Amino acid sequence: PLSLVWLRRDLRLHDNAAVYHALKSGRPVIPVFIFDRTILDDLDDRQDRRVEFLLQEVNRLQDELAKMGSTLLVRYGKPIDVWKELISQYSIADVFTNHDYEVYAKERDKTIGKLLAEQDIGFHTSKDQVIFERDEVLTGKKTPYTVFTPYSRNWKEKLTSFYLKSYPTENYFNHFWKTSPEKALTLQSMDFKPVGESFPARTASDTLLDHYNQTRDFPALPHGTSQLGMHLRFGTISIRDLARQAKAAEDTTFLNELCWRDFYFQVLDHFPHVEKHSFRREYDEINWRNNEDEFGKWCEGKTGYPIVDAGMRQLNTIGWMHNRVRMITASFLCKHLLIDWRWGEAYFAKKLRDYDLSANNGGWQWAAGSGTDAAPYFRVFNPALQAKKFDPKGEYIRQWVPEVDRPNYPKPIVEHTTARQRAIDTYRKALRKGK
Ligand code: FAD
Repeated sequence: PLSLVWLRRDLRLHDNAAVYHALKSGRPVIPVFIFDRTILDDLDDRQDRRVEFLLQEVNRLQDELAKMGSTLLVRYGKPIDVWKELISQYSIADVFTNHDYEVYAKERDKTIGKLLAEQDIGFHTSKDQVIFERDEVLTGKKTPYTVFTPYSRNWKEKLTSFYLKSYPTENYFNHFWKTSPEKALTLQSMDFKPVGESFPARTASDTLLDHYNQTRDFPALPHGTSQLGMHLRFGTISIRDLARQAKAAEDTTFLNELCWRDFYFQVLDHFPHVEKHSFRREYDEINWRNNEDEFGKWCEGKTGYPIVDAGMRQLNTIGWMHNRVRMITASFLCKHLLIDWRWGEAYFAKKLRDYDLSANNGGWQWAAGSGTDAAPYFRVFNPALQAKKFDPKGEYIRQWVPEVDRPNYPKPIVEHTTARQRAIDTYRKALRKGK
């Protein structure tokens, strides 16, 4: 009998908890990856950087395993169907995998765990994609934190080398099952077309930036942030490795961002209602205007607010937007246009190559003021002031909105002072009603 290790958002063989436990199981190991049709069938745009990146990384793993005389089983389908087939095809004693915290993923794992249990196959799951999960960083009363600052204090105190140790999988690579490599899948066979971009591999050590704390807020700088989101999303880089390097370099600002990442994962795990609702329920009472025409202009980057338009065009063109500008564009949609944050969240989810439900939802609820670290509802970002502060020479704006100083650039879709007051009044009304 074999041990199977089911890779999902942890596409690496090094420093991977599930791979390590599988290799130590004493049985030959085969890794499996499933292109999940439950997720893929919902993507309207059949050119998708995430799918292409996944395929690239799956092929890379396939090559790595082929060099060791083994293989990666790559399947395309719904996990339940694929697992039924794998069970009938192989003699499996145990399945190893890493925790996943989204509602869909938790349900999926419950179903597969049940199926495996019915066949007397063990299902072993480990923490891997975060440094601290669910119940590892709790308040004194053993409840989850719902505010970032005290959470981060506790998180940083606990961040000892013990939690950052790597899993030395390479010592056991000879335990991969010896077999000939399977034929690779193609994008076309899954009904996708190539985007035609390359996604270079990254390692933790080539990622740390010398002056991250000084550069991270300026979207015009080409390397002001790490641009590592997609690698963290699919686990092509180990979070422990990255945090270890940041800690050794004493890059507290960067560590703080990794802490935000953990924070939003545990929020999602403890409060799954955030996937569909405001974290603070009273914010579900907001009477959104939801004007579709204005939403369309926001999506296209034609609001007449240069920093907002630059951000949206950056997103539409390269599938990534700088964090500062994500904050500005999101705030503009929720407050200036009074459009439901869930509309914006869904749009980002379609476009962002580093899309991650927990961080995206956290970011949107932060902007809407409905989330854990809510800024008071009467604080409304002024896009012009934000641009002045974070893009003082207008370089970022001109890169994405070259016509900004020409007469054909649209007039502002709403006037700032009026929109601000309208947002405050609408929020105030909802919050009174919610009480
Ligand atoms: P860096 O600044 O180099 O940070 C390194 C890593 O730290 C990031 O890759 C990410 O994994 C993590 N990180 C940084 N900031 C945050 C944060 N605020 N919350 C959680 N993790 C963070 N991040 C995503 O990974 N996926 C998303 O879908 C996503 N959607 C967002 C939506 C909105 C409205 C907002 C305001 C923020 C969102 N973020 C999201 C957080 C942040 O904007 C991105 O992580 C960051 O811009 C990615 O670029 P980078 O890799 O260069 O980040």
